[in-house]
Amino acid sequence: MQLVDIGANLTHPAYRDDLGEVLQRASAATVASIIVTGTSIEESRRAIQLSELQNENLFATCGIHPHHARACDATSIAALRELARHARVVAIGECGLDFNRNYSPHPDQEKCFVAQLELACEIGKPLFLHSRDAFPRFGEILRQHRISKAVAHCFTGGKTELHSYLDLGLYVGITGWICDERRGAHLLELVRDVPADRLLLETDSPYLTPRDLRPRPKARRNEPALLPHVLRAVARALGRPPEEIAAQTTRNARSLFGLTVRESGSVAA
Ligand SMILES: [Zn+2]
Repeated sequence: MQLVDIGANLTHPAYRDDLGEVLQRASAATVASIIVTGTSIEESRRAIQLSELQNENLFATCGIHPHHARACDATSIAALRELARHARVVAIGECGLDFNRNYSPHPDQEKCFVAQLELACEIGKPLFLHSRDAFPRFGEILRQHRISKAVAHCFTGGKTELHSYLDLGLYVGITGWICDERRGAHLLELVRDVPADRLLLETDSPYLTPRDLRPRPKARRNEPALLPHVLRAVARALGRPPEEIAAQTTRNARSLFGLTVRESGSVAA
């Protein structure tokens, strides 16, 4: 079995002291590839460095998260364009809209989002999309720009929102949110609406540690080694064997992001 964690924030300070061990545990847990999420110019640069230095099964995204949209200008988009051409960069993002925290004003968020949609179209790479409480506006913008090669990362929304993304052709990223009995229970049923060839798995580490882990982990930090737990939750919800869902989601990730695979091994520190 081989898994791909399509979203892990491995440049986060939470991993400063033991990233090597985190990667070893991921490898032991059959997580063969990890896509390191870029959330700003600086973090994207670090994600690329990590993917270059650490090993050949780490990849990177480069983008500006909506939280940082107020600082996004022509210079940042030019910098992003440079980074985006790097061979290890497999997607533009994460980018999108976040009307939940509203760290940046909505007009700034939309401008920064659209600039990244245009960049992705220009260079022909898929998008790693973030949307929180921003539907239907988020869907409208995607439709206007005819975006289809993308993943709705960490999907937490409802049925209408899900089907609007599926209609556009988007992939759907499922995190440990589905293990959250307070906020994620609706996903147990909704995940059945996602066609098998559009489903992706992610941890969104260090965030979203599955709430139903037993025994409860001492550290609250999530890590890619916990992806099989998300896999099992999804497989249970779908009533399918985990091996089947693993093979399918790995195929999907490799196909959307064009990941090169080293068959002989998995992530090594
Ligand atoms: Zn996100």
